[in-house]
Amino acid sequence: DRTVSVVGGGLAGSEAAWMLACRGIPVTLYEMRPQATTPAHRTDGLAEVVCSNSFGADSTTSPAGILKEELRGLGSLILKCADAARVPAGKALAVDRDIFSRLVTETLEKHPLVTVVREECVSVPEGPAILATGPLTSPAMAGEIRRMAGEEYLSFFDAVAPVVEADSIDMTKAFRLGRWGQEDDYINCPFTREEYEAFISALTGAERTLPHDFEDSPSWFEGCLPVEVMASRGTDTLRFGPLRPVGLPLPGTGEEAWAVAQLRQDNREGTLYNLVGFQTSLRWGEQERVFRMIPGLADAEFARFGVMHRNIYVNAPAVLDGRLRFRNGREDLFLAGQITGVEGYMESTAMGCVAALNMAALLLGKPFPEWPRETAAGSLLHYLGDALERRFQPMNVNLGIFPPLGKKVRNKALRCEQVAQRAREAFDPFLAGLAELAGPAR
Ligand code: FAD
Repeated sequence: DRTVSVVGGGLAGSEAAWMLACRGIPVTLYEMRPQATTPAHRTDGLAEVVCSNSFGADSTTSPAGILKEELRGLGSLILKCADAARVPAGKALAVDRDIFSRLVTETLEKHPLVTVVREECVSVPEGPAILATGPLTSPAMAGEIRRMAGEEYLSFFDAVAPVVEADSIDMTKAFRLGRWGQEDDYINCPFTREEYEAFISALTGAERTLPHDFEDSPSWFEGCLPVEVMASRGTDTLRFGPLRPVGLPLPGTGEEAWAVAQLRQDNREGTLYNLVGFQTSLRWGEQERVFRMIPGLADAEFARFGVMHRNIYVNAPAVLDGRLRFRNGREDLFLAGQITGVEGYMESTAMGCVAALNMAALLLGKPFPEWPRETAAGSLLHYLGDALERRFQPMNVNLGIFPPLGKKVRNKALRCEQVAQRAREAFDPFLAGLAELAGPAR
């Protein structure tokens, strides 16, 4: 029996089921709602969009647009239904969430090769399977995944500091140095007293979002206090904590600044830096406004904003094999969606495609698709394999994960267009090569 069990009928699971069924491979899609639910889902529809109804930018002047172009090229069900459920949102692709979810549900329920089973999987199904149970995976399945990943390689909570693009940091204000002259792998942003006090006042006054499950999250108290909460305990708290200036003499004068914010390299290529100790629950617009007050970050481009919420994901670089399987696991068991270590609706959908195409290759006896590094999906996959294990955090699609262009293009939209053009040139032949995974036409 070649039937594939797809566990979780969210964005990634729905996409994976579709990609397999289109290739003539029968699928049983397990979705636990409405019998059991998560703290964020409200309906029993497949591919329920739990928060914002925006899927992000839809033009290739933005990295999110490049990923969408690739997903459309692959024949994505999620993109097809999103286009059909589109509501006006400027340059973004936003959807009427009910129409969108209904279209996905109807398409899959009607497909002769898809059987939708409304049941919580409490263990991993036998036979070929894709786990796409999402950031709010049910506790029983989270336990199973933890067992396979290894205790320390499954995270349950995200307390993420913002990440900025390295070349948007003003190095005439910031300087490279490790504390007490150790390695040079930090970028330091020194504050004068006036700058620091203005910053603290903006930080404590900024608008916050509290995570949905704030009250019952013990992790909150385990040394990952949001920077704004720490700042509100006293003007000097940060200056004696993560923003302490000791051991970081200013270049030239050798004096000590009033406070220093440090940025730490976030990927091997050194194109991304995270703000050390800045885990935050500020609203995204507020993060941009307040963190740009840090000397050297006035023009910072945020590759990702800080978040604090429940989020179950594996430490991909430590445990996955590059095909979205556990390195020492079953050859016919793939992960998909946000639990693979990506973040975002489209990124999760893309990892549904990747898992399904890998599964199709395995079942049809063909080689695994080799996603070109220049593509958006290929860059996400590369990140999952290449990110630093010790500090692994889920990633969304952004310019910093693509290979560098090799030349400086100041204008971001223009830079993105060039990255998009390069992605297209790599993606088109890749797509043509996928034809052999087409399976019988349906
Ligand atoms: P999901 O879409 O969550 O799908 C997983 C499915 O599996 C669910 O339907 C669930 O009911 C089912 N399931 C779970 N366990 C089992 C089981 N054992 N058996 C059977 N079924 C099971 N991303 C954005 O881009 N924009 C946002 O605004 C945004 N907001 C978010 C808000 C919250 C509260 C959270 C948690 C995440 C948010 N994300 C957002 C991140 C992420 O992109 C989405 O959560 C996305 O839906 C992930 O897709 P997925 O398919 O991996 O998981």
